[in-house]
Amino acid sequence: MSSEPVVALSPKTWDEIKTTTCYMCACRCGIKVYLKDGTVTYIDGNRDHPVNKGVICGKGAAGIKQHYSPGRLSKPLIRVGERGSGEFREIEWEEALQTATSWLGNVRKTDPKKLAFFTGRDQSQGLTGWWATQFGTPNYAAHGGFCSVNMAAAGLYTFGGSFWEFGEPDWKYTKYFLLFGVAEDHGSNPIKAGLGKLKKRGAKFVSVNPIKTGYSAIADEWVGVRPGTDGLFVGAIIHELLNAGQIDGDYLNRYTNSPWLVIDNKGASDHGLFARDENGETLVWDAHKKTAVPTSDHNAARALMGRFTLADGRKVATSFQLIAERYLSADHAPDAVTERCGVPADTIRRIAAELAHVAFKETVTLDVPWTDFTGRRHEKMIGRPVAMHAMRGISAHANGFQTCRAIHLLQIMLGTIDTPGGFRYKAPYPRPIPPHIKPTGKPDQIWPNEPLPGPPLGFVTGPEDLLLADDGSPQRIDKAYSWDAPIAAHGMMHMVITNAAKRDPYGIDVLFMYMANMSWNSAMNIPDTLKYLTAKDETTGEYIIPKIIYSDAYASEMVHYADLILPDTTYLERWDCISLLDRPISEADGPADSIRQPVVEPERDVRAFQSVLLDLGARLKLPGMTTPEGQARYPGGYPDYIVNHERAPGVGPLAGFRGVDGTQSGKGAPNPNQLQAYIDNGCHWFYELPDEHKYFKHVNKGYLEWATGFGLIGKPEPIIHQLYCEPLQKFRLAAEGHGAIQPPDGHRARIMEAFDPIPFWYPPFEGDLVDEAAFPIHAVTQRPMAMYHAWGSQNSWLRQILGRNWLYIAKERAAKLGIADGDWVTVTSHQGQIKGQAKLMNGVNPDTVWTWNAIGKRSGTWGLKKDAPEAKQGFLLNHLISELLPKRDGGYRFSNSDPVTGQAAWYDLRVRVEKSADQSNISGPQFPTLKNLGVGQ
Ligand code: SF4
Repeated sequence: MSSEPVVALSPKTWDEIKTTTCYMCACRCGIKVYLKDGTVTYIDGNRDHPVNKGVICGKGAAGIKQHYSPGRLSKPLIRVGERGSGEFREIEWEEALQTATSWLGNVRKTDPKKLAFFTGRDQSQGLTGWWATQFGTPNYAAHGGFCSVNMAAAGLYTFGGSFWEFGEPDWKYTKYFLLFGVAEDHGSNPIKAGLGKLKKRGAKFVSVNPIKTGYSAIADEWVGVRPGTDGLFVGAIIHELLNAGQIDGDYLNRYTNSPWLVIDNKGASDHGLFARDENGETLVWDAHKKTAVPTSDHNAARALMGRFTLADGRKVATSFQLIAERYLSADHAPDAVTERCGVPADTIRRIAAELAHVAFKETVTLDVPWTDFTGRRHEKMIGRPVAMHAMRGISAHANGFQTCRAIHLLQIMLGTIDTPGGFRYKAPYPRPIPPHIKPTGKPDQIWPNEPLPGPPLGFVTGPEDLLLADDGSPQRIDKAYSWDAPIAAHGMMHMVITNAAKRDPYGIDVLFMYMANMSWNSAMNIPDTLKYLTAKDETTGEYIIPKIIYSDAYASEMVHYADLILPDTTYLERWDCISLLDRPISEADGPADSIRQPVVEPERDVRAFQSVLLDLGARLKLPGMTTPEGQARYPGGYPDYIVNHERAPGVGPLAGFRGVDGTQSGKGAPNPNQLQAYIDNGCHWFYELPDEHKYFKHVNKGYLEWATGFGLIGKPEPIIHQLYCEPLQKFRLAAEGHGAIQPPDGHRARIMEAFDPIPFWYPPFEGDLVDEAAFPIHAVTQRPMAMYHAWGSQNSWLRQILGRNWLYIAKERAAKLGIADGDWVTVTSHQGQIKGQAKLMNGVNPDTVWTWNAIGKRSGTWGLKKDAPEAKQGFLLNHLISELLPKRDGGYRFSNSDPVTGQAAWYDLRVRVEKSADQSNISGPQFPTLKNLGVGQ
């Protein structure tokens, strides 16, 4: 008998599998978590899940190392040393909650707006926004203001949807796909899978991006545009299409406001507004009757273009006449923009011709009859198979809102929105333009111990909706919805700490943040941010921001600058809901939502932030979180809320398995077994629309009626695309001196320029304000496919892919600068200087340098060793980016943001790059090492 040992070649590594939702990036794929003896051993994609259909990416699979990260926090902490010293005392949860309740309660009973509550990339904004409303503070927002609000607002004010989570290219039928500046860490599995489909079918994929990495590297054509000039490139394409008559006149006439009549009365208070009849209805010109008729007259022979005189003598022009006049002008011609945007004029002309050819000569026809909102029956669905998609590359510029509107104008002129092969809405979109939610927080809406009458965030349609104090100054701490940023629909998180420390417009009592690394990679101007967080009042010796409460699962840089730490769980230890009330996981073919379930119990003394928030709400006796008897309304925490909360009768956080027996969708009574029903269904729910509802949703009678019944929209009314944006003109008129609410004089010129109702391009502000000769190069970041925000750098598997970053420079530019591969270089902006190591490459716009975002860490954080490469060789561009623009003539420093939406202009940075005199193997600046607060290995 052999005595050879038996080797188990394929031991079973699991004894249990649980489904849940990934949180290693924003895509929210379905995953299967394999467990052995209660330990996570493997993570795989869930084949039945609508988002990823089984695909798992490197980040998702590495979730194990996120869950077992040495950077995890393990116990509530209260600060006992100075801010930044890392001196904390561990406390029990009861003390932590009592402390928070006391701090928050004092604010609420005096002046609730002295609480600033801001969250980072959390996926529970349906809850956090509602909590702020119940607390009574307008000072609430999540990270959208420094991420994507240009892109979201431009879409919601133009076509009732948006790029990113609110829609997707029609991967099945698109034949030509134009992608602008999308981050591979965010738009991950769904875009990868979609691009795979396009490649298989031979569709053309054009990527417009200064840098040829990630998706751009596999594009059929890479257009290496200069940062911030995409609007010029798009405008020139529009010019070419108009010149060639290559537009979808039918689509524009029926489904957009192109034929609506605009008053031409320069200098008057109605100039640029839509002409309306005595019933307030907008008008179109009937070319046969030669008179204006209401827009609702669907039998009118609508003139798409022209200038006319109304019976009352008013001069008018169609919206599209004004649009065409602008874009047909010579300054939009390819030859006029080529030098500035860095794209050859012939390339622009060719791409315009290709788009037109695919849209009009390669139409997709589906044998699916449908009826539009006028009652007109269409025997087939005819699509123009051109799709576009954009994200931060467009969004993170001070001209991003108008640039994104220009992209939508281009799509809509080609007739591609929600047609087969075009860009498709995802539920709950399309919605009315803009959505019918106004922000609240005016002076008469904030009272001690009272909730706000509505949500803090919404969509303004004129100066009367702004949140202004009685003297016209900003009412919010971040100055959102003021004349600084009137359409700041996601707030302006990047301004909170600066403004609070400067008591501009006022001081606050408590800063409460969740998952927001605001002292490091989420801050512009880190050195000053650290000063603001630690600044003390000279007379009292107290911190100017008196109390900072922070919740996070990990020992990020921000933890050290807070006073009270509420440690959160990892994503595998808690309940969550990916809700239609927030940012759901819907598909273009129908609404979908999902949950996270705890697949393991925490072995640390941590609690899920959402349950903690509900607990605090009950302790503070916030309405909505308290029963009439004064008891906690959701004593079971977040899962209790997910099941039983109703935002409107029958409408709760989850749309699936509603009704007491779980048979209803959309609307229905709470179902006590709803979470189990989700678990039984793989932790997700999806409703597939019937074929006749899948396209033209904005004007599809059947879909609009279904969406009304389901609770997605209030009325089954068409969602007419607003190419000409009248709300913008209302702000402009105020700046010209009309109406009761007008901007301060120093703001007038800026509002008049930026609030053009027709999309246009203007230079990003920073480039315009600094000396271009001194700072000749653009500096931007890219997000690596293998990391998500700052989180990836604590993950021992993902760190092996990217443990540090470099500054990438075009070879030709580096040669001119005398920089060789591997040289250490200094990068200088008007704000500061950093030192990083250079790598030379082809495939980057020669006027641009770039690096990976959020890899650089402060020594001692995230559970990393103090001399980790992330800390000693890694670096951030954040030190170079100011949250305030350089002074203009009047001396006022506007925030470094889009003037319409307040979106942080991360990508407007201008720098000079030089070989460093210091070639030592260390990046700069270096800050003192922080005390490691994570659980360790
Ligand atoms: S794409 Fe994002 S959500 Fe999906 S598996 Fe990868 S990390 Fe997770």
